[in-house]
Amino acid sequence: MTIERVGVIGAGQMGNGIAHVFARAGYEVLITDVQAEALDKAMKTIERNLDRQIAKGALEEAQKTEALGRISTTQTLTDLGPCDLIIEAATEREAVKTAIFEELVPHLAEHTILTSNTSSISITRLASRTDRPEKFMGFHFMNPVPVMSLVELIRGIATDEETFRACLEVVDRLGKTAATSEDFPAFIVNRILMPMINEAVYTLYEGVGSVSSIDTSLKLGANHPMGPLELADFIGLDTCLAIMNVLHDGLADTKYRPCPLLTKYVEAGWLGRKTGRGFYDYRGETPVPTR
Ligand code: NAD
Repeated sequence: MTIERVGVIGAGQMGNGIAHVFARAGYEVLITDVQAEALDKAMKTIERNLDRQIAKGALEEAQKTEALGRISTTQTLTDLGPCDLIIEAATEREAVKTAIFEELVPHLAEHTILTSNTSSISITRLASRTDRPEKFMGFHFMNPVPVMSLVELIRGIATDEETFRACLEVVDRLGKTAATSEDFPAFIVNRILMPMINEAVYTLYEGVGSVSSIDTSLKLGANHPMGPLELADFIGLDTCLAIMNVLHDGLADTKYRPCPLLTKYVEAGWLGRKTGRGFYDYRGETPVPTR
């Protein structure tokens, strides 16, 4: 199966990065969003990130022009019908994703592979709401997409081998590395990462260490590039809590119970970098621990 035209649904944090890497790998990309501003912002972000790659010497000016020339935008979801591969990267709400698939599916070519970048929703359940569960997969990029080399490929219960192989080839052409995960809550990366972050919050909650001693311990003692609380602020504490809830509900094991202190930060609206405050306060020149 030849994949040349790629449709990206959702032009947020992930969607713009996904469009960026596909265009750089020579695919024709059509990106859609319900908000016109999101599309404008995504194109500006892609241009800025390509400029950043030029400044680092990783890209020539001509390659930037070529990449930008391969990306088009539309506010009409059904324009994505003729694409060979669709990556859905809209808001992480199941009702939003199923409504998108319902509207799009009647317009898709028979061969089109449909995928979702969801971090936590069951691929099997999403696939069952379409006309092609055998051509449906999880295509899970990491944030920021142009920088992170991993893609988790998640097979639903019905995904066929041809679809899986075609997606593996795409990951290869993007210059990224695939890891295959079965369709269980939070897949592999978040299944391991989120309980570690949650445990760091328990360590803070129980007074074992302060924010800075916990982050310093993991950075210098385990060689992690970022401390777990710093990383939680980067991801967004609401996202961390949502994924812990998916693990807790989906696996029904108390070892995944979200730390009450994580819930309290989210209730306060202290969601990390995106709101200016989380385990650190980012409103000044340098981040200051909040505990
Ligand atoms: P985001 O909020 O930055 O962007 C979501 C975009 O989807 C918004 O621009 C919104 O306008 C758009 N949208 C909403 N409804 C739509 C519709 N019906 N049709 C088209 N567009 C629609 O979110 P994000 O962080 O980019 O996350 C997107 C997806 O990627 C989610 O499924 C999330 O779980 C997953 N993901 C996120 C991360 C991360 O670190 N943020 C990492 C891996 C995967």
